[in-house]
Amino acid sequence: MRSKLLNDFRELLFPRICPVCEGRLLPDEQFICTECLVEFPLLKFEKTEDNKMIRTLWGNIPVAHAVSIFAYRHHSIYHNLILQIKYRGNARLARQLGTWAAMQIQDHKLEEKVDVIVPVPLSRRKQWERGYNQAYHLALGLGKVYHLPTRKWLKRSVDRQTQTHMDAKQRMENARGSYTARIPMSERGKRILLVDDVMTTGATIIACAEAILKVDKTAEISVFTLALSK
Ligand SMILES: [Zn+2]
Repeated sequence: MRSKLLNDFRELLFPRICPVCEGRLLPDEQFICTECLVEFPLLKFEKTEDNKMIRTLWGNIPVAHAVSIFAYRHHSIYHNLILQIKYRGNARLARQLGTWAAMQIQDHKLEEKVDVIVPVPLSRRKQWERGYNQAYHLALGLGKVYHLPTRKWLKRSVDRQTQTHMDAKQRMENARGSYTARIPMSERGKRILLVDDVMTTGATIIACAEAILKVDKTAEISVFTLALSK
């Protein structure tokens, strides 16, 4: 009773906000309001071996499994989730989304298909500006459910222009060669789950996978992104 009172009081002082619609969360709502959860544009990947995401990546890199949780367009309110974790420093939300996402795709049994989680890195400058890397926190959230380690094996070595306004070909040229991987000898040949917040053309994922395979040809790459952007 006492803790409920305390919680009610805390709610009053610091109302929790749904990161999608920015409405106030009810006490029994976890971190996204019920309405936004019901309407969530969840992707249904029937099987991981053949889906839209993996088809985008094949032809460029060998990918064992690829999965994404939802799809959005830029005007969608669900884009708010990406803005929150990318630009508004909401590291906690990134971890919550990672954990929640892992629960959504339990039937994919990713934990049996990968050994280690590797987040897509930011450049040192961006990491310094933003204070944290959203992909790393997503990876931690996933790792918590899968009981898998998260390793910072990738570095963004070149800080090129932001990719937002580039077409697919420009993005690929921009991303290629921007990443380097350092993997300890004892960790070679692992099944790696590359993690990022959004996949648009796949250029970043492809560049990261290329960097990994350059130092470890025996690594197997799978991909998880929170969202696919259209
Ligand atoms: Zn909401």
